[in-house]
Amino acid sequence: MRILVTGGAGFIGSHLCERLLGEGNEVICLDNFFTGRKKNIAHLFDDSNFELVRHDVTEPILLEVDQIYNLACPASPIHYQFNPVKTVKTSVMGMINMLGMAKRVKARILQASTSEVYGDPLIHPQTEDYFGNVNPIGPRSCYDEGKRVAETLMMDYHRQNGVDTRIVRIFNTYGERMLENDGRVVSNFVVQALRGNPLTIYGDGTQTRSFCYVSDLVEGIIRLMNTEGETLHLPVNIGNPTEFTMNELAGEVGKVTGRKVKIEYLPLPQDDPKQRQPNIDRARNLLGWAPTIPLADGLKRTADYFGKHIESAANVSA
Ligand code: NAD
Ligand code: UDP
Repeated sequence: MRILVTGGAGFIGSHLCERLLGEGNEVICLDNFFTGRKKNIAHLFDDSNFELVRHDVTEPILLEVDQIYNLACPASPIHYQFNPVKTVKTSVMGMINMLGMAKRVKARILQASTSEVYGDPLIHPQTEDYFGNVNPIGPRSCYDEGKRVAETLMMDYHRQNGVDTRIVRIFNTYGERMLENDGRVVSNFVVQALRGNPLTIYGDGTQTRSFCYVSDLVEGIIRLMNTEGETLHLPVNIGNPTEFTMNELAGEVGKVTGRKVKIEYLPLPQDDPKQRQPNIDRARNLLGWAPTIPLADGLKRTADYFGKHIESAANVSA
């Protein structure tokens, strides 16, 4: 198959491109390099089935493809809040452009949505039929509401135009090729530990998240894309249901890196969700999917990666 991956030079996109190429597909990676990097995909350049297109999804484009994975969108609060108007445009105009292309070339399209559509959730764990508790005017809204409109567009193009759609609600994912400075908690803690700096916990550290290792996530979204069924145009949560407080995560990072970590408590950002855990019954039942990599193993692989890739980590001995 010929497959388009928008945001393919980013953290998750680069792992997805690698997997799809490994399965013998032709892959077109489209990216504007806002948070993506050529070095994430440089090892794929020699593969004649791989093509890279520098393009911004807010501009129309037409490519003859069989499947589209639409991942283009900055994902960490620091990056999506850098230019919030652009974040909304990326989710909304980018989604319209990709859906227009899918309709024209009759491609199946999968949208990378997010657990942020549940906002600061009032039900726990989150099931796909929960409508969410999102602040429409706060600093996270450009991302959360942008992704919610993108889901609306997916459902309306499906109902109105018969476009073959898939929506995955991705919960916190981590692993190799996260940016060391993108502010997400796993990369922050691992890099801080390796550098011998205190781990910055926002608030009192009792807020929870559930962390999914990137290879598990990629397996889940590939299954969702390639499974047939009446109800598969409805959103599917993909994430690891094992829930940790940020205090517990700091302890795990200390264990995995073998460092004696100090903690620095900093103010909690506005609208920071208090708890998050996916209910993955739908993914289990429809896709036969469940995560396989425990946090300790995934953190170890992530720490090994950062150990090799960040400056000064090598100089800090355990
Ligand atoms: P990332 O920032 O590493 O990747 C996003 C990619 O999109 C980057 O390569 C970036 O350059 C590209 N991009 C951004 N705006 C673009 C535009 N206008 N045109 C073309 N390319 C553009 O983030 P990630 O963690 O790999 O996230 C990938 C997708 O998964 C995003 O849509 C994100 O919202 C979603 N997601 C990620 C997580 C997570 O925990 N990592 C959780 C929920 C949802
Ligand atoms: N967080 C933290 N220290 C950091 C970075 C983040 O305590 O250095 C907290 C953040 O406030 C949130 C959780 O970790 O409660 C997850 O943050 P992240 O940005 O990784 O993901 P999101 O909030 O988008 O789920």
